[in-house]
Amino acid sequence: MKSQKKYFLLVVATVCLVSVAAFSYVGLPRPFNYEQNTSPTPEIKTFAALSTTGDSYQTPNDNMQTQISVEPTLLPSATAASTSNRDERPRRVREAEFSPLTLRAASENSILRYNLGWFFGGKSQRGWLLYVPLIQQTIGASKDADTPEFANAVADWQQQAGLLPTTGKLDDKTLYKVVEFWQSRRLNNSDYPSPDKLLVGPTSDFYDPGRETELRKVERETYAAYKQMVAAATKDKTLNLRATASGELAPDEKYLKIVSAFRSREYQAKLRRESPGSGRAGLAVNSPHFTGRALDIYVGGEPTIIKDFNRAVQVQTPVYRWLVRNAERFGFYPYYYEPWHWEYIPERLRKPTSPAK
Ligand SMILES: [Zn+2]
Repeated sequence: MKSQKKYFLLVVATVCLVSVAAFSYVGLPRPFNYEQNTSPTPEIKTFAALSTTGDSYQTPNDNMQTQISVEPTLLPSATAASTSNRDERPRRVREAEFSPLTLRAASENSILRYNLGWFFGGKSQRGWLLYVPLIQQTIGASKDADTPEFANAVADWQQQAGLLPTTGKLDDKTLYKVVEFWQSRRLNNSDYPSPDKLLVGPTSDFYDPGRETELRKVERETYAAYKQMVAAATKDKTLNLRATASGELAPDEKYLKIVSAFRSREYQAKLRRESPGSGRAGLAVNSPHFTGRALDIYVGGEPTIIKDFNRAVQVQTPVYRWLVRNAERFGFYPYYYEPWHWEYIPERLRKPTSPAK
């Protein structure tokens, strides 16, 4: 009898221990993993639940342009973020290399990325987790957003941008400056190209193979740059893109296909009539898509759904990450708020790679 009771207590104790261990494992925040699969991780779900943004296309939209002047500076451009993100040494050993200020900034960034309250296009936003790949690229950080290395890169960028004193904290002031910098590098017009500047892309370049001729128009320079960019991505074996025998992106590959390119005012007006009151970005009165130089490119998830859960999937796909690191080489610049929207800027119109102070 006594040994039975002992046995029972042992079982109860074991069950309790296992439950506590399992709960703390599930409950612990783990790093946001951009590299692996494309289904939402627990962190993304948490983020989506936390976030108040992304329910409509109302504003901000494709059109949001911050009209600011950018002065060239002598500062070096941001370097590409490396894909290797992990320092294998124990955290304590690494942290000894950093100042208390840097460590505190890192710890604050680990919270701000989820919680920072800010505004864009008159809409309340929460956190900057969705923009970490672009931020890393811009500030030249290769490590995660909660690391002292990232905080130091933030501090360096704050210095470049004249945000003093430098703190290493990606706070609202810094984030607004980063967004302003991104927006300053975009197309700043919605001028129509003359008809001879447009070509009709083959259906094989489009996400929807049944897309009609009128909707497959692309500005010529943009199309050439797009093809070069896609060829380079297809060659990159880490992306595992399906290719034809001659090395072109395969017709049945969805990634990097064009979802939408040139849109005429008439077509845009027709879409607006079809969904009145939607205020969708793609249906804006003035759109960079009028130029034929803006491409919506398939980067995963639902092609152009702006809800946070969808963007969270998109920003972790290897294809999106590749574009963040490489698109600029081909003249394509992101609209940070829409992972699929990229604008081709002809060389003569490209802006400096450093922020204006
Ligand atoms: Zn677009």
